[in-house]
Amino acid sequence: MYVSANGFSAEGAAWRVEVCDDCGKEFYYPNEQVGYGEALSMMGIGAAGNNEAAAREAQADLRFRLKHMRQLVKCANCGRFQQAAVVQRRQELASQAIRTGFFWTLFPVFGFGIASVVLDKNANWSNAAILAMFGSGLLGGFLTVAAWVIARFFFDPNIGRYLLWRADQETESKGMTQSQYQQMTQSDHLDAT
Ligand SMILES: [Zn+2]
Repeated sequence: MYVSANGFSAEGAAWRVEVCDDCGKEFYYPNEQVGYGEALSMMGIGAAGNNEAAAREAQADLRFRLKHMRQLVKCANCGRFQQAAVVQRRQELASQAIRTGFFWTLFPVFGFGIASVVLDKNANWSNAAILAMFGSGLLGGFLTVAAWVIARFFFDPNIGRYLLWRADQETESKGMTQSQYQQMTQSDHLDAT
């Protein structure tokens, strides 16, 4: 296991063993995760202490993630993605869709809202800005919900259905069979002695 931290985030990896849903054999992979912590400070007061707290929080989050979270890695024996990893990925993509969608919706809504106030001497342009504000809010809201639904219910790498997202082939194929893993740990041992 390795860990490197910079206060607000800590990244690390630990070997993970999975028993395949499909073929029942074991496979191994280095599970890489990032933990996050937050530091709040008011005009620099208490920032140092808070940074330490944030670093501890990031470490704790990382330990939790290394233990409980998976990566989307194919079984090294039969090539099947594990159902638990697919479900986890769907949840991650869905919450990412909400965060991204929220930002890209609020951004034009505020922009057009401010524009409508600035332009209020010219009633035509001001009304157009108000329309654009509601329009972008509706469109953004619709696209956000659509992306959330697609992530939550339709994303399925086992049938090659990535839709809005791309496959991370390097991560997907880093799994090792039991004998590959044993060979690797044995040669590490030989190197070390
Ligand atoms: Zn398998």
